[in-house]
Amino acid sequence: MCAMKKKVLIDMIKLRDYEDLPVDAIFTSGPALNGLRTIREEATFEFTCRRCEDAPCISVCPADALEKEASGRVIRNVNLCVRCKSCIMICPFGTLMDDLFEIKPRDRIFDLNDEKDLEAFIRACPEETVTLYEGEEDPGEHIYRLNDRVCVKELVWNQ
Ligand code: SF4
Ligand code: SF4
Repeated sequence: MCAMKKKVLIDMIKLRDYEDLPVDAIFTSGPALNGLRTIREEATFEFTCRRCEDAPCISVCPADALEKEASGRVIRNVNLCVRCKSCIMICPFGTLMDDLFEIKPRDRIFDLNDEKDLEAFIRACPEETVTLYEGEEDPGEHIYRLNDRVCVKELVWNQ
């Protein structure tokens, strides 16, 4: 019988106090990083972004790196983005944290699909911003499921 995989709860509300977070996390089963978006970026576009109809972040991007999926969710093409931060500055809701698209050294990016990395990520993050979590999605507590191993606490604008 295989052991149940650990899950984390990332408190995006608390993490907003740490705009220059020294670590970040991805969710992958392979070693490649190219083209991958971090967990914070995935969570931000999934839960924080208001999916503006005329999305100024998309129009301002000089590299055509942002686009909308059919669901209205914005996604960033990591390989096109030149990290100019224009989208961060123009967003009228302050959705995008200043350091969101910065590239961090490989040894500061933890793979949450890996048990040891997951625990190291918890230790490396400011206290109580990322914790082990055994629960499920719970909108009443502002907790939402991002993937099999990650839940996010966020004030979702349309809930
Ligand atoms: S401008 Fe801000 S809130 Fe609107 S779609 Fe872009 S990131 Fe989301
Ligand atoms: S940081 Fe600049 S290049 Fe990257 S998505 Fe935002 S506006 Fe486009």
